[in-house]
Amino acid sequence: MNRVYNFNPGPATLPLAVLEAAQDQLLDYQGQGMSVMEMSHRSKPYEAINAQAEARIKGLLGLGDDYRVLFLQGGASLQFTMLPMNMLPAGETADYILTGSWSEKAAEEAGRVGQTHIAATTASEHYCRIPNQDEIALSANPAYVHITTNNTIYGSQWHTLPDVGGVPLVADASSDILSRPVDMGKFALVYAGAQKNLGPSGVTIVIVRTAWLEQASKALPVFLRYSTHLGKDSLYNTPPVFAVYMVNLVLGWIESLGGLEAMAERNAQKASTIYGVIDANPGFYRNPIQPESRSLMNITFRLPTPELEQSFLSGATAQGMIGLKGHRSVGGIRASIYNAMPQMGCDALAQFMQQFVQQYG
Ligand SMILES: *Cc1c(COP(=O)(O)O)cnc(C)c1O
Repeated sequence: MNRVYNFNPGPATLPLAVLEAAQDQLLDYQGQGMSVMEMSHRSKPYEAINAQAEARIKGLLGLGDDYRVLFLQGGASLQFTMLPMNMLPAGETADYILTGSWSEKAAEEAGRVGQTHIAATTASEHYCRIPNQDEIALSANPAYVHITTNNTIYGSQWHTLPDVGGVPLVADASSDILSRPVDMGKFALVYAGAQKNLGPSGVTIVIVRTAWLEQASKALPVFLRYSTHLGKDSLYNTPPVFAVYMVNLVLGWIESLGGLEAMAERNAQKASTIYGVIDANPGFYRNPIQPESRSLMNITFRLPTPELEQSFLSGATAQGMIGLKGHRSVGGIRASIYNAMPQMGCDALAQFMQQFVQQYG
């Protein structure tokens, strides 16, 4: 077996222990004589997986009975639409804070459903930072305020949540969910595609404060209502059973490492390993994000020329480090180092970066 260090932004690397557990259970899940993929979603073993996955997310985030966790399909992208369809009534306004491409997309989609207001944006500065509190100008009475907690493409992250008064705060946390402790009491709804920090693609996690959903639109097609999925414990129709099963294994792995405090510590250490090399070589590596807004999940950097970036990428590939090409919209290099990326992968990348600057710097 020859596994690479996989820095892909999503689908992304999974913990080896999780893949091995899945391999071990693939042909015969707990004496059922079949895999989870082949099992009825109405069966007891699957219901147990579904319930355990919700309980684990609630446990890790310290959520009480006022929150529920949904396992939906359609990715974070469907949430861009489903959120305003449910929670943006006609005549009201939803506020969006723009910090990168995904928040732009979220706001655009909401704009197709209803009225939106951009409460803050750093677009004119190429999204090199998260806005300050005093730059946030909410509309008169917003239905909710939407943020993107980690900006996967640009490589920035909210490190202090905005103060939005009593307005329901909603987050797209696709690329940093369960990477650190969060004061979930601040959020009315958080959604995330699983394929970055939580498992394979195919399932979307939606964490909701149930009281807020009581205001949801009743005039939607049944499948698009949060209440439909809530009322059926995410088993309204056939769920992506294998993806939920994999997420459940990843959640167990996070628990086994000590929960979110431990993840935060690991992630901070990993990120500083790479930012350390960038900062030590300012004439060669350049991270475009202001230090206080740097992402611990997606580290973006440029080299002096596109040609050097190209040879950096091929040199890294030759050493078993893949997925480092920056998003096509911004170029450069991006190292995605979600929960499942081990410290050893970051050490290997940092060492390669050092060798590279010695050779070409
Ligand atoms: C990847 C990503 C998305 C898109 O997710 P899909 O599940 O592919 O729809 C949305 N938001 C953020 C922050 C992302 O990183």
